[in-house]
Amino acid sequence: MVTHRDIRHIFGPVPSRRLGLSLGLDVIPAKTCPFDCIYCQIGKTNHHTTRPDNFVTAAELLEELRLFLDQADCNFDCLTFSGSGEPTLNSELEDMLIGIRQLTDKPSVVITGGSLMAEATVRRALRLADVVMPSLDSAVQATFEAVNRPVPGLVVAEIIRGMEIFRSEFSGQMRLEVLFVKGYNDRPDEIEAFKSAIERIQPDTIEINTVVRPPAEKFALTVCLPDLEQIRDALGHKARIIADFKRPATVAATPHLDLAITAVISRRPVTLDDLVSSLGAPYSEVVDNLKMLISKGMVQPTYHDQKEYYTLVQTLT
Ligand code: SF4
Repeated sequence: MVTHRDIRHIFGPVPSRRLGLSLGLDVIPAKTCPFDCIYCQIGKTNHHTTRPDNFVTAAELLEELRLFLDQADCNFDCLTFSGSGEPTLNSELEDMLIGIRQLTDKPSVVITGGSLMAEATVRRALRLADVVMPSLDSAVQATFEAVNRPVPGLVVAEIIRGMEIFRSEFSGQMRLEVLFVKGYNDRPDEIEAFKSAIERIQPDTIEINTVVRPPAEKFALTVCLPDLEQIRDALGHKARIIADFKRPATVAATPHLDLAITAVISRRPVTLDDLVSSLGAPYSEVVDNLKMLISKGMVQPTYHDQKEYYTLVQTLT
């Protein structure tokens, strides 16, 4: 039987409104990113860097994937690089994408903050994905710095140019995500700047989002649906709203998350999604605490009806 001791960088499959049943691949340690976005649902960046590294090696990830795929009942629609930070910081992403093609014919998706798209090596790796979902939250340098809080030296005009080049090289689907934060990038002059950037990048779709999950900073506020609808109309026919307003945007942090997790699990087996929504805690914090509880032998993952559930082995003392 395959356990979490063997599989540490693969999560799910998790249902996603945008991607179907998505198998998550987490190849970056929490939380490592060239950005420190004020709205980030993973929390604050503690490793702010643009330097690539093989945090998880391609050999390690592909071996875990091979073990996972050997399970009789695994079923999913796509494999998605996302998780605890910026996946294009993994220097072996290209080898991972090549290896995945040899193991499965399921499409691979990379969700990226777009921070490194000015780099030719990053674009070369991303070309091997079937779907690339980069973010662009502002085409104006001052707003980009205020919302994304990049590593000093990152220039949004160069990132936009990188996205434009990538589009000309990439035959897969490019879905550009724009997350609007009230009072930052929702002004008319920002929307005009976006329109010219989008004209140059030519993504297949523009996915409009706002702050609907607990953000890194309390001052990152939601743009209301009527305002998002106006923005969508201004951005043209490729734009659609993906924000899920059913999710709470501001939930108090849980001080003893490990205890809270075991309390929930002691009542019934739950999925990762169940835990995140019932505790209202950031995804990465739930994942980190779950990993810790699993490594201590207190919680164990089980598979049922093609879903991963967590059950309690022993309570915390
Ligand atoms: S939202 Fe994405 S790009 Fe922004 S800090 Fe979080 S992980 Fe990085």
